[in-house]
Amino acid sequence: MAHSVEFFPPKNAAGEERLREAITALLPLGPEYASVTFGAGGSTRERTFVTVAMIRQDYDLEAVPHLSCIGSTEAGIREILGDYQKQGIRRIVALRGDLPEGMENPGHFQHAADLVAFIRHFGGFDVYVAGYPEIHPRATSARDDVAHLVSKVQAGADAIITQYFFNPDAYLQLRDDLQRQGVDVPVVVGVMPITNFEQISRFSAMCGADIPQYVRRRMEAYANDPQSQYQLGIELLSRQCQLLLREGAPSLHFYTLNQAEATTAIWRNLGL
Ligand code: FAD
Repeated sequence: MAHSVEFFPPKNAAGEERLREAITALLPLGPEYASVTFGAGGSTRERTFVTVAMIRQDYDLEAVPHLSCIGSTEAGIREILGDYQKQGIRRIVALRGDLPEGMENPGHFQHAADLVAFIRHFGGFDVYVAGYPEIHPRATSARDDVAHLVSKVQAGADAIITQYFFNPDAYLQLRDDLQRQGVDVPVVVGVMPITNFEQISRFSAMCGADIPQYVRRRMEAYANDPQSQYQLGIELLSRQCQLLLREGAPSLHFYTLNQAEATTAIWRNLGL
């Protein structure tokens, strides 16, 4: 498996321009595919479709849509899958998602495993799912969370892409837990370049990614020096990726946030 990149669907023309610049800059690295996020409850449905079509048609790059099921009906998901099938999409990242504020009905699908089984039954797609080396923030326990991940693979997932993390041991522990339970699908490393430490700190608090003290203290030492923070982020992530690839991680999935520079720097440092 080669390495991949992730984009979010832009909200406006300026965002589209930035995304196009990022794709143009990343293409020479040869990513295997670009995945495109999907707002839970269908909030970006049209924008995800348009972005997927743009990536395929304008850049001749395989696009892999994310699809979250929370708040959806069976008919709604079937319609989306039918559209993607007509477009020639071959893989999907299947997620539960989180209910958007103000939306209360979780709909037909309770968990991502339900969506995986539904897509398998529909047929025609490889299915990737999300895994959490540091445990999903709402999980009842670490054991339950790993068991639920195993159930997504048993429902038919072909690969796992991890939430980002800055503790490489968390990934190795999850990979070994899965192996012990007989799961042998690739566990792809989700990589979040630290381009803006404040933003990553806020986001990490929400999604349950731990920022180790040695990272936080070093970043804080450069509080008024974004360029040094950026360089430190590149160094830390390059080392983490190198270590995990050496440990046998099958591939890397870069959360680009629609920016090419940091992903390119890490990719080049690794000589991928
Ligand atoms: P699930 O696998 O269903 O797990 C969610 C929670 O429910 C976990 O705590 C799990 O332990 C628990 N659980 C699972 N099964 C059961 C069960 N049978 N009984 C009881 N509890 C259970 N979000 C978006 O909105 N759009 C995106 O495009 C998007 N892309 C993502 C890509 C990746 C690679 C990752 C890692 C995350 C992404 N997310 C995205 C975030 C994701 O939607 C949230 O983390 C969400 O809270 C969980 O989704 P899931 O698919 O992991 O859910």
